[in-house]
Amino acid sequence: MAECLRFICRACGKNIESWSDGNPYYIDASVGKQYAHHPDHERLAICTGNDAPHLCLTCGNEFVVDSSAPIKHCPECSSLNIADTFHLSGRHCPVCPAGYFEIDPDFGCIS
Ligand SMILES: [Zn+2]
Ligand SMILES: [Zn+2]
Repeated sequence: MAECLRFICRACGKNIESWSDGNPYYIDASVGKQYAHHPDHERLAICTGNDAPHLCLTCGNEFVVDSSAPIKHCPECSSLNIADTFHLSGRHCPVCPAGYFEIDPDFGCIS
């Protein structure tokens, strides 16, 4: 079961949707990286890695961190202040100086 959350900054309205399991993938010998998503349990079972969506809390860039070659900084501005988008609650909004992310209680879905 995968869960989807939306984080929202009440100050500027910036919001980000995130799945609890990121983007699981497996390597297909002929075509390369293939993503598997719920409810495709057969392909999920052979996944060997995950491209986890991240947000740069300095410049607001969204990117993925590959579990097989993880990076610790933003590819755009080199900031170390990055966060997994599923764990944004209470983190500083990169768009406005005063905002914080919180879970949007009006949003939620399950796959
Ligand atoms: Zn904001
Ligand atoms: Zn950045």
